[in-house]
Amino acid sequence: MVITTRVRRATEDSDEARGQPTADALSIGRRIRHFRTEAGLTLGELGERIGRAPSQISVLENGKREPALGQLRDLATALGVTTDDLLDPSPVDARQALELEVERNQMSPLYTSLHLPHVKVKSLPQDALEAIAGLQRQLTTMVRRRAATPEEARRVNRTLREQMRTQGNHFPELEKVARDVLTRIGYDGGPLSQRQTAGIADHLGYSLHYVSDLPSTTRAVADTKNKRLYLSHDDVTGHDPRSHLLTALASHILGHSAPADYEEFLTQRVEANYLAAALMLPESEAAPLLQRAKKNREISVEGLRDVFGVSYETAAHRFTNLATAHLGLPVHFMKVHSSGTVHKAYSNDGLPFPTDPLGAIEGQYACKRFTSRTVHRVADRFSPYFQYTDTPNGTYWCTARVLPGGDFSVSVGVPFAHVGWFEGRETTKRSASHCPDPACCRQAPDDLAQKWEGASWPSARTHASLLAAVPPGVFPGVDTTEVYTFLERHSSDEE
Ligand SMILES: [Zn+2]
Repeated sequence: MVITTRVRRATEDSDEARGQPTADALSIGRRIRHFRTEAGLTLGELGERIGRAPSQISVLENGKREPALGQLRDLATALGVTTDDLLDPSPVDARQALELEVERNQMSPLYTSLHLPHVKVKSLPQDALEAIAGLQRQLTTMVRRRAATPEEARRVNRTLREQMRTQGNHFPELEKVARDVLTRIGYDGGPLSQRQTAGIADHLGYSLHYVSDLPSTTRAVADTKNKRLYLSHDDVTGHDPRSHLLTALASHILGHSAPADYEEFLTQRVEANYLAAALMLPESEAAPLLQRAKKNREISVEGLRDVFGVSYETAAHRFTNLATAHLGLPVHFMKVHSSGTVHKAYSNDGLPFPTDPLGAIEGQYACKRFTSRTVHRVADRFSPYFQYTDTPNGTYWCTARVLPGGDFSVSVGVPFAHVGWFEGRETTKRSASHCPDPACCRQAPDDLAQKWEGASWPSARTHASLLAAVPPGVFPGVDTTEVYTFLERHSSDEE
């Protein structure tokens, strides 16, 4: 339950959620040592004062064992400090912070796996200690980056999709967060206006700044120290300006912190996108609207899009959040590139998606007979496109559109049994898919193969994405230098 766990953690606001350290045996031990040396006592002298052998004091100071409460009181009294002084998790000075860091790293599974000697940090010169700490940090970062391979990314995608499927792509916790936010800004129905959107930013204490030099690898940048949110004022992608703003604010509403790994990065992105859509198409408005449409047998993605003034993709995606929970309909959703590769996919209606041996769908080629592919070959880009597709798992009905720009199509569909509620069910377009049978659309027809096999030599165009690892960094794919120089440039702006 990745998503729900993270949402709960973000809203509970516990110490753990904010990443506050708690006192552990090592930090208590280091504090005992600090106060002992400050008091000018040897291990033996302190041991004598509390009736313990020097070796037992040493065990405590090295963090190998945590002192019992009674023992802690005796130690505090003997050292002339309070038990709180000993339990305080913060390092007493910069040197001790560094020692603790190196000490903890030496105990980590990663360091242990290297079979290197355990270094006594206390006696190390400052430069040697700093060098070891620096190398440890770098090693941890590199190992983490290496873990973010395409395999890792596909595994994470699969886990997330599995969770979405079991929940019908509906996350009540996120719906509740959206509801609370809308209540606070006094939302009372209809499409969310640009002004109300800005009101959400205002509520979070953020000022909005529209600039022309936003880093190219970002859609928005937040200066969390000065509470400024930067957005592009000339968004050429034709995206709904509210969408980027709300997605950026969603992370702050949900209390996201810098993602520790690729899984957390993806989970946060899914949550932020979900919340942004739930704000633009509130459940309290969109669900009854869809229920009425179902009753009148006129459900359409375009209808949802037009009422709330959102993009087709946002409407189609939001439809999958509400269709199962509020209409009792199983559905599927696909975003497919004109080359045929799947960019996003969701289903709980049994449509046979193309998968690799690990069960991943992203990056696979969608069947050429699927609506998401055939729509790319339709000349009319203004009317909605409908199609029935026979598959090994039964017949599906789908509606699709090519997005502005022409690179991607978005399609939404349901099993044949549920088509009666949709506009466009009377279409006569029909297609038959036999995928994953390679003879469907992956293999050349026999007659052509017999003629040309062994008589052709194509020069392959290399897909850069095929060879590239997942982009490294805390925010994969984002150019941090660009972001920091951008913030530097704008932090001195006049209001
Ligand atoms: Zn096929």
